[in-house]
Amino acid sequence: MSQSNPQWENEIAKRRTFAIISHPDAGKTTMTEKLLYYGGAIREAGMVKGRKNSKHATSDWMEIEKKRGISVTSSAMDFEYNGHHINILDTPGHQDFSEDTYRTLTAADAAVMIIDVAKGVEAQTIKLFKVCRMRGIPIFTFVNKLDRHGKDPFELLEEIERVLGIRSYPMNWPIGMGSYFSGVFDRMKSRVELYQSNTQHEDISFFPVEGAEDPLIGDRVGQELWQQLQDEISLLDVAGDEYDPELINKGQLTPVFFGSAINNFGVQTFLDNFLQMAPAPSAKKSTEGLIDPYTNAFSGFIFKIQANMNPAHRDRIAFLRICSGKFERGMSVKHVRLGKDVKLAQPVQFMAQDREIVDESFAGDVIGLFDPGIFQIGDTLCVGKSFEYEEMPHFSPEFFSKVMVKDAMKHKQFQKGIMQLTEEGTVQLFRTHPMEELILGVVGVLQFEVLEYRLKAEYGVDIMLTRMPYQIARWLEGEKADLDAVKNRTVSDRYGRPVMLFESEYQLRVAMDKYSNIKFHESSLGL
Ligand code: GDP
Repeated sequence: MSQSNPQWENEIAKRRTFAIISHPDAGKTTMTEKLLYYGGAIREAGMVKGRKNSKHATSDWMEIEKKRGISVTSSAMDFEYNGHHINILDTPGHQDFSEDTYRTLTAADAAVMIIDVAKGVEAQTIKLFKVCRMRGIPIFTFVNKLDRHGKDPFELLEEIERVLGIRSYPMNWPIGMGSYFSGVFDRMKSRVELYQSNTQHEDISFFPVEGAEDPLIGDRVGQELWQQLQDEISLLDVAGDEYDPELINKGQLTPVFFGSAINNFGVQTFLDNFLQMAPAPSAKKSTEGLIDPYTNAFSGFIFKIQANMNPAHRDRIAFLRICSGKFERGMSVKHVRLGKDVKLAQPVQFMAQDREIVDESFAGDVIGLFDPGIFQIGDTLCVGKSFEYEEMPHFSPEFFSKVMVKDAMKHKQFQKGIMQLTEEGTVQLFRTHPMEELILGVVGVLQFEVLEYRLKAEYGVDIMLTRMPYQIARWLEGEKADLDAVKNRTVSDRYGRPVMLFESEYQLRVAMDKYSNIKFHESSLGL
């Protein structure tokens, strides 16, 4: 362990690495675009959006992707703003929702949850939220589309608490909504930001007030909305939660901001507050105890592998989250699982659509490493004494298919292809007892198609997929005798751990009652 290095110290302390969690259409792309715009990282609106339209997609390696016009792959984006270095990890959200989306959250230090004011808490948000909750990272909420009529803000907060089990602290409060939307009252700074559609940076206008009772507000937004604001703020002050940075940091209280991303309204306030409140990279658990980002030399872990390059060469990119110290191009690092040194010669960073070669990066950053097939998800790379970061968890798939090779002569290629592609981690492989049949599990159904396509294109293997009625997987933990007793009902995951599959929540509950000595885990974390 070395001394804290002053050069790293400043670099690391200014980093904020987060992922946006939301349901499709809540406004993630719009928000990302506005944030990048603040950093001067993009010059015009529509650049991020372009990724969704096949015309601009860089990752055009796959026909499925082209046909559907969606991005199967995803990236990390970074920009500088107000003395901070911000890394946004992209969480694929539409049909390309996959385990990668979950795993990306393991590389984030905070999450931004975007909620559509009219739709409230939706299915995908709930799933992603659960992963953040499991990791205990702080979650910041942006309620979007206030320029449209939506749910009553109190109703929304109640919904967030009831559905997600997290308490909330509104940092600002909307004045009106939809066609009456007039602005937000900033509870922390006691000022009002007046709503204008399509706000440019330079014309964001605030005016300070003496609390919600200040008649100045009535003068600007009208008596009726002012009265309503006063009633709501006094209700919040009495009945709402208190501001508590410690609870926010632990992910038990979420600061809530209201705004309209498309109109760039409330985005800057959100960003400024977020940067103040969100954590810089912090110490992470490893086999050698906590690894401090400042005092340790370079280390990181692979959280995602993407085969997007040239299918003929099977090139892959392994995404590494740097957890400590400084990375320099060309440096030699220990690949702990393989027990050998590797030289990181051609690392890339992803800015919106362009790749650029990185020369140096610091804890908190994400870099892409060209992978000739030596990396697996969860691998640790480090300099100095060897250690490993915690194993990357697997999450319950929601779709299952039995898989068989059509031409038995190609069994070998099939086995090899399946093993390599499941290593990338978007598809999970289970084996039945005692037949050793193979079952694939995915979080997003498109992954079946991707796998089928790639086995054919890269390994020349045709497969037959038969959908199975399961929807849920649970990792089992218990005494050997108890687990043996249910062996004929379980399958094994890649590591031979027992897993039970269910067709419904009801079936799961019945099993949990029946086998009360066994623990049923939603993910493989810590097993
Ligand atoms: P994503 O699927 O979460 O990435 O959502 P997008 O950012 O693509 O937004 C989905 C749709 O909502 C698009 O048509 C956006 O123009 C629209 N949208 C985003 N933010 C706002 C907003 O603040 N107000 C309104 N009215 N529409 C919005």
